[in-house]
Amino acid sequence: MTRLKDAVEHIAKAIISQKDYLNMLDKAIGDGDHGNNMAIGFTAALEDIENMNDDGNPSKVLKAIGTAFSENVGGAAGPLYAAAFNRASKACDENTSFTIDSVIKVLGEAIEAIKKRGRVKPGEKTMLDVLLPVYEVFVKGKEKDMTLFQCLGEASRAAKEGADYTRTISASKGRASYLGIRSIGHQDPGATSSLIMVRELYNFFQ
Ligand code: ADP
Ligand code: MG
Ligand code: MG
Repeated sequence: MTRLKDAVEHIAKAIISQKDYLNMLDKAIGDGDHGNNMAIGFTAALEDIENMNDDGNPSKVLKAIGTAFSENVGGAAGPLYAAAFNRASKACDENTSFTIDSVIKVLGEAIEAIKKRGRVKPGEKTMLDVLLPVYEVFVKGKEKDMTLFQCLGEASRAAKEGADYTRTISASKGRASYLGIRSIGHQDPGATSSLIMVRELYNFFQ
């Protein structure tokens, strides 16, 4: 499945290009480095992925991202995304193709990794507030016999709504939680990096 590699390269470049925007969001409720952290992780991941001989293996592509984040990115989000991509990688193999079923399985595992590692649940102003609604789109899409592309479009909209929702709630995890209710009104940086990944996955296939 060569296209996952291409999709990931597209997503990595999009995140890197949004570095300043993500830093700006993090400046308001954190320490202003979320864009740097994500750019460091995806720059390292891109290097590995571009040099990959075996580009047909989605498990290896996801593993490369997990490793790039765990070896290069500190802070709160780095290890969380590392855990998510590593567990996602274990949920697939070289034969996994890009289908609604595989998204449900792989994203479901990634979400479990974030929940466990971050001790986080929905409504705490984190990336989970984007990723969980996105996951639910694919579960409902399967029930309704939607196509993968339709699900990606719905997922992109759900991701935007999830990121918007983080403005209305206060943070109870990470640095933003130090602000308590003063974090209300600000969009969560981690939710926004997840939004960019989901939106760009859709844009890639458009
Ligand atoms: P740091 O806060 O250490 O500087 P980043 O700025 O890279 O790390 O990441 C901040 C983001 O991490 C937050 O916007 C939030 O989405 C996410 N986050 C922080 N703590 C947790 C947690 N315990 N569980 C899930 N996500 C978290
Ligand atoms: Mg930060
Ligand atoms: Mg930091």
